[in-house]
Amino acid sequence: MGKVISGKELSLKKRAYMKNEVIKLENKYGRKPHLAVILIGDDPGSVSYVKGKEKACLEVGVKNTTIVRPKDITQEELLSIIHDLNCDPYVDGILVQLPLPSHINQTFIINSISPDKDVDGFHPQNVASLYLKQPGIIPCTPKGIIEVLDSENIDIEGKKACVVGRSNIVGLPVSKLLLDKNATVTIAHSRTKNLKEVTKNADILIIAVGKPLFIKEDMVKPGAVVIDVGVNRHPITNKLCGDVDFDNIKDKASFITKVPGGIGPMTISCLIENTIECFLKHVED
Ligand code: NDP
Repeated sequence: MGKVISGKELSLKKRAYMKNEVIKLENKYGRKPHLAVILIGDDPGSVSYVKGKEKACLEVGVKNTTIVRPKDITQEELLSIIHDLNCDPYVDGILVQLPLPSHINQTFIINSISPDKDVDGFHPQNVASLYLKQPGIIPCTPKGIIEVLDSENIDIEGKKACVVGRSNIVGLPVSKLLLDKNATVTIAHSRTKNLKEVTKNADILIIAVGKPLFIKEDMVKPGAVVIDVGVNRHPITNKLCGDVDFDNIKDKASFITKVPGGIGPMTISCLIENTIECFLKHVED
């Protein structure tokens, strides 16, 4: 059986380390890093994600403010909240929980967050920095994926990596990070023909599609490293599950992550890390 990499354990270690760092930072600078989260509406998924972020802040000792507004908030009102947070010298990170209600222009909102407080790394300036290999904020999930690979000293250089999914928040940025580590990267998507032939070639297979148990055993190369980013409800049990048919693939892979307890907790730990990085920029500038 391949090794199941526990993102949960890794993220607990990361949080314990960051907790110590935050104590030192507070002693040195007289305040803690501060993350502001804006939650619009009461979508259960979004509420649960925000709770996970609050819990992680508490664990690490990062100050957290969650601003909750009803789903009929106007775009102007939301922009005004972001403007105030942008101007507040004691706020280091701003996260707007996505998705937003359809009457609000998501791109416009993301672009209104000050790039030096954009802990999600979604602002065009941070996106450009990633692609140009300049200092900036790296999106949390891709960062977490690379840390998971690094935690097992998985060799990336020269390997064939296949990323299934090309979203701005997972597929594209993780492809760029793999490329920066000298993998030969193939990006597959909904129009890819013969997907199985593509995935079967990969030494490292990253799946971010959002379809329960989408990747089957015959789509995986023996000994491949399989990273499952998907978060779905199982169609029969309604339990959380990933994009990968874990039970049937775990024996074929050399390393594999599980859902839940894989990339999800690492994403949140990387969010806290990004908040600390933003704090350091603010206090040292
Ligand atoms: P998107 O819906 O933005 O993107 C999904 C991607 O999958 C698209 O690029 C799409 O292709 C591709 N796709 C859809 N159907 C197929 C198919 N049949 N064959 C090949 N590719 C296909 O999703 P996200 O990237 O935002 O998220 C993906 C999953 O990861 C979701 O389950 C989400 O919940 C989860 N997630 C988990 C996180 C975590 O922390 N664990 C963080 C973020 C997301 P096309 O571009 O052609 O439409």
